[in-house]
Amino acid sequence: MKRSLFACSLLFTLLLCKTGFAIASDTTKKQISLPLINLRLTSGFGYRIHPITKQHDLHKGIDLSARCDPVLSILKGRITDTGYNPVLGNYVRIGHGEFQSIYGHLSQILVGRDEPVEAGQPIAVTGATGRVTGEHLHFSIKFKDRYINPLHFLSSLLLPEQ
Ligand SMILES: [Zn+2]
Repeated sequence: MKRSLFACSLLFTLLLCKTGFAIASDTTKKQISLPLINLRLTSGFGYRIHPITKQHDLHKGIDLSARCDPVLSILKGRITDTGYNPVLGNYVRIGHGEFQSIYGHLSQILVGRDEPVEAGQPIAVTGATGRVTGEHLHFSIKFKDRYINPLHFLSSLLLPEQ
């Protein structure tokens, strides 16, 4: 009687540990993340009249409204480049196999080149560096050598059935 009770409680403890671990690893290992916690589009992907140069040009990403917000890696990957350029300002590029995600106009960069990152990991803080009229996050997706619409890419990740 005593022995079977012990065995039962041991089994229960084991089961609990296993489930607890599964839940913990589920919540910590996120597979897809949005680049910002709150997504508000201010400029889409495609041809537009540039707000500063007033020239017709291809906007190679999307602009998202931001104010000193953490920037999150959308997928697991590896930092391929970080730095400053006069257009993008402070930027981070992350490689995810044949895809690359690019985050621009950052105020602070929290990662270094070659560093592995997880989906949802904070990699930077939004800002207004480079060629901007105000603070926002510029977000691009490159597939091989081509820029693709990041909204289509995110929706294909989040809604794979559609
Ligand atoms: Zn932009």
